[in-house]
Amino acid sequence: MKTKIVASLLCLLPTMAWAEPPRPKVVKSDAEWRKVLSPQQYDVLRKSATERPFTGEYTDHKQAGSYVCVACGSELFTSDQKFHSGCGWPAFFAVAAKDKVILLVDNSLGMQRTEVRCATCDGHLGHLFDDGPKPTGQRYCINSVCLRFKPKAGK
Ligand SMILES: [Zn+2]
Repeated sequence: MKTKIVASLLCLLPTMAWAEPPRPKVVKSDAEWRKVLSPQQYDVLRKSATERPFTGEYTDHKQAGSYVCVACGSELFTSDQKFHSGCGWPAFFAVAAKDKVILLVDNSLGMQRTEVRCATCDGHLGHLFDDGPKPTGQRYCINSVCLRFKPKAGK
């Protein structure tokens, strides 16, 4: 009996060692995304549209907590990484973890920019610029409509 309990505890160990296991990819068809996203969320996340500047819910949002992808729930940014850029969209100088987003070259609109996408659901989030503050010098310029704010527990 005792050996059995020890053995099952040992089986649990590898899973407990993972702080946060890698999230499985979220893949949905266009029609499925239309059902779960608002028309504006769909246009931005799935069709790479941009919300109008200074209209987003989180542009000047300052509460402590984290910002998750509205489409799949993956944590993308924290309030500690947010700064006031004045550009009209929420801006962050870093991501919650490097593997949370993917970066792609975007040559649309006659410019070369770096597109930021959610690594979990492949949703378009915004663009990355190199005019951010220290310590990274980076500015992740993200559409509010792609984010959902989760207040820090107890706040
Ligand atoms: Zn996502």
